[in-house]
Amino acid sequence: MICENIKSIKKVIPNNVHLVAVSKTKPSSDILIAYNCGQQHFGENKVQELVAKYEELPKDIKWHMIGHLQRNKVKYIAPFVYLIHGVDNLKLLKEVNKQARKSEKIINILLQIKIAKEDTKFGLSKEALNEIIALYKENTFQNINIVGLMGMATNTTYQTQISEEFSSLHKLYQELKEQFPSFTYLSMGMSGDYKLAIEQGSNIIRVGSAIFGMRNYIQ
Ligand SMILES: *Cc1c(COP(=O)(O)O)cnc(C)c1O
Repeated sequence: MICENIKSIKKVIPNNVHLVAVSKTKPSSDILIAYNCGQQHFGENKVQELVAKYEELPKDIKWHMIGHLQRNKVKYIAPFVYLIHGVDNLKLLKEVNKQARKSEKIINILLQIKIAKEDTKFGLSKEALNEIIALYKENTFQNINIVGLMGMATNTTYQTQISEEFSSLHKLYQELKEQFPSFTYLSMGMSGDYKLAIEQGSNIIRVGSAIFGMRNYIQ
């Protein structure tokens, strides 16, 4: 089913929208099925699991860190991570820069913005974002490339609310894109809301359960 699921998602999304297959909690055998079906980008939200899968699986897989990232764990993923979606505070950004320098590379990151009304969702406030942007302008982070924004909508059945939240993030993304040519990605949309997200300008969707089936525990 995994391959069929990927194909049917790809059929309904525009060519400019990238699909990250979220494989958290799923075995490497499932990832290999998706990989053999042509899927190259995978997302994980736990460092330990991400590292274990990286070591075990084909080296041309592009690994996305999509979850909340703890500062003391950045060093484990810095050497190989393709894109970090959830940078949501300045201290974390500084640590990513430091570890990227150690690995002698430039790491691509997305700033996670809080758009949901729930308290549980991580993300930068407008003020915290402005502080980071000001430092970025001064070239403070030599080993980081901020390539866009990421956000998660409120977990609700109210489609209008979800669309409005996505739309507000798209607006912010467009504003920043005018100042920073490196801004190319807007990561929003999961299994339940990726169609709404694409309507509102997303060009990276992070889809787990619609590809791999339900997860056994909530992450
Ligand atoms: C788990 C997760 C997803 C995928 O969720 P699904 O509803 O299974 O598609 C996307 N983004 C983040 C940040 C996640 O943690």
